[in-house]
Amino acid sequence: LGRVGVVVLDKTGTITTGQPAVTDVVLAGDIVIAGMDENEILRLAASVEKGSEHPLGEAIWAQATSRGLTLAEPTGFIAEPGQGVTAEVEGKQVAVGNLRMMENHGWALNGLTSEVERLQAEAKTAMLVAVDGTVRGVIAVADTLKEGSLEAVKTLHELGLQVVMLTGDNQRTAEAIARLAGIDTVLAEVLPQDKSEQVKQLQSEGKVVAMVGDGVNDAPALAQADVGIAIGTGTDVAMAAASVTL
Ligand code: ADP
Ligand code: MG
Repeated sequence: LGRVGVVVLDKTGTITTGQPAVTDVVLAGDIVIAGMDENEILRLAASVEKGSEHPLGEAIWAQATSRGLTLAEPTGFIAEPGQGVTAEVEGKQVAVGNLRMMENHGWALNGLTSEVERLQAEAKTAMLVAVDGTVRGVIAVADTLKEGSLEAVKTLHELGLQVVMLTGDNQRTAEAIARLAGIDTVLAEVLPQDKSEQVKQLQSEGKVVAMVGDGVNDAPALAQADVGIAIGTGTDVAMAAASVTL
């Protein structure tokens, strides 16, 4: 640790509390014609996320439950790492995920791209909800900085260390969070399997790298770093892969 020059920090659950909450639900202009409303979008999305262990999924699930919505049982659940989740709900193919997921599948964005960008600029993570191949709404969640993140980054900077944020979240949201935490270098939209590659890249530039993370998706990067530091409230696999647990 004494020889480290760069500290790489995971965003969700490391810099932030990792307990995001739903802040906005934005609907497509044709939602009424499609026979849906805000609660229906939330109910469908939450039914898919029942199968997910991701904090984003839990946020949607918690919001639907607090509104008293009755969830359906999803079938054929598939998680696409770094992108989102999909399943069949009451005969409908429902997907919840980011722009990359929608674009990869060729699902119609239905005029909601600018809403997604607006929410991201507010440091929120925006998830699109597609029903049978058309996006019908956007659910935004906000995660808050951990108490102490700003001060910790400041202290690392005072020690002369370079601080980098590494996240699977989109560039705009990541930059907004980084600004709040006082971090100037952001590596965003990094797929889980590519996080360790990013650490390798920094090492190939001759830097001694410490990586701090909490998630299953951080484990390979924690193992790759010269010093891997896991957050003790995170996943077991992160702690197993790291040499230090806080
Ligand atoms: P992080 O590096 O912040 O822990 P992940 O790699 O787990 O992020 O996820 C990256 C992105 O993939 C998320 O910001 C989100 O857009 C999308 N995503 C992942 N899992 C889900 C899910 N269960 N529901 C909706 N979107 C998801
Ligand atoms: Mg994380």
